[in-house]
Amino acid sequence: MSKAIYPGSFDPVTLGHMDVIRRAAGIFDEVVICVLNNVNKSALFSVQDRVKILQEATKDIENVVVESYSGLLTQYAKEKHIHVVVRGLRAVTDFEYELQNAQTNRKLSGGYLDTMFLTTSLEYAYLSSSTVKEIASFGGDVSDCVPDFVANLLYEKYNKKS
Ligand code: ADP
Repeated sequence: MSKAIYPGSFDPVTLGHMDVIRRAAGIFDEVVICVLNNVNKSALFSVQDRVKILQEATKDIENVVVESYSGLLTQYAKEKHIHVVVRGLRAVTDFEYELQNAQTNRKLSGGYLDTMFLTTSLEYAYLSSSTVKEIASFGGDVSDCVPDFVANLLYEKYNKKS
């Protein structure tokens, strides 16, 4: 059975993430989405909330499971016996960071972990969780960026009317 981990902050999940999730689910028998705490980013939603949001957003994709982990991705991958990581590439700007991450994970795991990149569908290339949060914080329309229920959760967080 082929499996892959799709790790990220997902604060919150966007339609760009959903695109990568659906496509990865079409390639692998099982995709484990792993919510990790990125120490370089301050989060709007708690890890538990992000897991619940992702579970709701992916409930119609049967070969996807959602988990969280607070340690190193390489450790998690070994515990789960999964040696492929999926990441999304939006633009050249993602490339250096993603290349460094992929190479670090490969080195740290002693060659166990490989990273596979899915290039984003063009309509989502501009999307990031941070942009979506910024737009929602000013009450802007994020309905084209995130699943509808996530848009409502964002407006609730920022006390903006949906
Ligand atoms: P991280 O903090 O680990 O970068 P993110 O939640 O920001 O976590 O992103 C997780 C993964 O999803 C990354 O590989 C990122 O490049 C990818 N991603 C983010 N937004 C999009 C998008 N709009 N389209 C495709 N991939 C995306």
